[in-house]
Amino acid sequence: MKVVYSPRYGIDIGQHVFPTAKYGATRDGLIKTGVIAAGDLVEPPPATWDDLALVHTSDYLAKMRLGALSPEDLAQLELPWSAEMVDGFRLMVGGTIHASQIACGLEKVSGLNSEFRISSHLGGGLHHAFPNHGEGFCPFNDVAVATRVLQARGIERVAVVDLDVHHGNGTAFIFESDPRVFTFSMHQQFNYPMWKPRGSLDIGLTDGVHDAAYLVALERALPTVMDSAPQCVFYLAGADPYEDDQLGGLNLTREGLRQRDRLVIGTVAAAGVPLVVTLAGGYARKMEDTVAIHMATIEEATAAASKPRKHEGTKRYSG
Ligand SMILES: [Zn+2]
Repeated sequence: MKVVYSPRYGIDIGQHVFPTAKYGATRDGLIKTGVIAAGDLVEPPPATWDDLALVHTSDYLAKMRLGALSPEDLAQLELPWSAEMVDGFRLMVGGTIHASQIACGLEKVSGLNSEFRISSHLGGGLHHAFPNHGEGFCPFNDVAVATRVLQARGIERVAVVDLDVHHGNGTAFIFESDPRVFTFSMHQQFNYPMWKPRGSLDIGLTDGVHDAAYLVALERALPTVMDSAPQCVFYLAGADPYEDDQLGGLNLTREGLRQRDRLVIGTVAAAGVPLVVTLAGGYARKMEDTVAIHMATIEEATAAASKPRKHEGTKRYSG
């Protein structure tokens, strides 16, 4: 399985609850444990400003480029502005675009022997970014931009499975009036963001939900997602539903999160639909826990990629 990553994701944002060092640590851990080989890693090109303009307004992009964000903009984004920050996140959007092109067979890569087209991105999941502003550590919406790029290349029907502990507000808003994109978010209801624009399927969980209830709700929801007949699925495998997360109030264990990943990846694989795995949030008290959760996600993706596919997808959209 190809794994998209750049060492430039370790963006310096000062002392912050968002540990950008987790990306490099996840990469290192995956290599060290032999889950992936160095040759599986692919460095993405940055998203172009034109790519970003498929989702974001020109006014907002100009402010980001020039460092002209107001104090209110910065407070909402919750990141300090720097050219490095903008370039790093633009690169990260490029990573999700690149991973989606690999999964959908639009990017020629050598060494792919799996029939089930799955790719992973050690980054991304910036689901709080709206067209005209960034918020909650998300300057640009990578999955939304990658979706628009796919649509421009003829892959119109897309589903987003967003299992970060926070609602995917930006993504839901962006695709509210696009019937080709199914947005599914399962999140903690009483948590950021306050305003949750309606997605195609939203499940707001009460505080403290454990593994079993979470997995039951997920298993019930996934058929509805696949019934939308996507040609590509983006999975936001947030590590923040974890019981020891500082910004999340759910109670999933590391094993529960692994089962979550297996359920999503197995469902999409069984349907034979290309899948793009992104990492999204993760703010465990100990960064090693966040890294271990992200590593398990990639391990599950790798296992699925190396399994022979049982049958061709029968639910491909054809009209
Ligand atoms: Zn989150």
